[in-house]
Amino acid sequence: MEDSPLTRRRLLWGAAGAAGTALAAVGLPQLMRPEEKAALPRPVRKAPAAGPPATLRKYPSVDYAPAVWIEASESNYTPSDRPEAYPIEYVVIHLTTDILPVMFTKFKDPAERVSAHYMISATGTRIAQCVRERDVAWHSGSVWYNHRSIGIEHEGWTDQPVYTGKMYEASAALTATICAKYDVPVDRDHILGHVEVPLSHHDDPGTAWNWDKYMKLVGTARRNIRT
Ligand SMILES: [Zn+2]
Repeated sequence: MEDSPLTRRRLLWGAAGAAGTALAAVGLPQLMRPEEKAALPRPVRKAPAAGPPATLRKYPSVDYAPAVWIEASESNYTPSDRPEAYPIEYVVIHLTTDILPVMFTKFKDPAERVSAHYMISATGTRIAQCVRERDVAWHSGSVWYNHRSIGIEHEGWTDQPVYTGKMYEASAALTATICAKYDVPVDRDHILGHVEVPLSHHDDPGTAWNWDKYMKLVGTARRNIRT
C-alpha cells in the first residue's frame, strides 16, 4: 500500500514525539546530579484554607451543638437581636401532638404562622433547631412571652405521651444550657409549660409530664455547666 500524505505525517509526528520524550528525560530530577537537584526551585506550598467565609462564621447554623438546623419559614418568626433587644427570661415546654416530620412541614409553611426554637424527638436522640435563639419564635400564643422565651417542642401526644427517659435527659441538658447562657433561674417560675403561659389556650405538655423529674435533671445539668 502506497504511503499517503496522512500516513507520512503520522510517522513524522511519532518520531518527533519520541525525540521529545528523550530530550525531556535529560531534565528529570532523578537523572540529575545532587548539586543540580539542589538548584531546582522549591515547590510553593499553599497555606491551608482559612475556614468558611466571614459571612458564614458570623451566623453559625445552630446555637446548641447537638442540634441539627432545620430552618422555619421566615414568615413564622420575628427576627430580633436578643438578648440585647429583649431579655431571655423563660423556657416554655411544649408537646407537639404530631410527629416531627409533620411539625417541620408546618414550621416551613408560611401560612401556619407558628414555630419553636427547638424540637426533640420522642426517643431523645434527635434535636432540631428551627429558629435562632436571638429571634422570636411564635410558640406560646403570647407576644410578650414569645419575646422573652425559648420554646422547646417535644414529640408526642397529650393523650398518648411518649416521654422517654432519654427525652427528659436531652431536653434537660438543652434547658440547662439555655439557663446558663442567659442567666435564667432553674425554677418553675421561669421554666414553664405552655399551659402555664397566661391566657394560653393549650394544655401541653399535659399531666403526664413529670415536672419533678425534669426539674431535678435540669438542676443537675445546670450545676455541671461552668459559667
Ligand atoms: Zn405548646
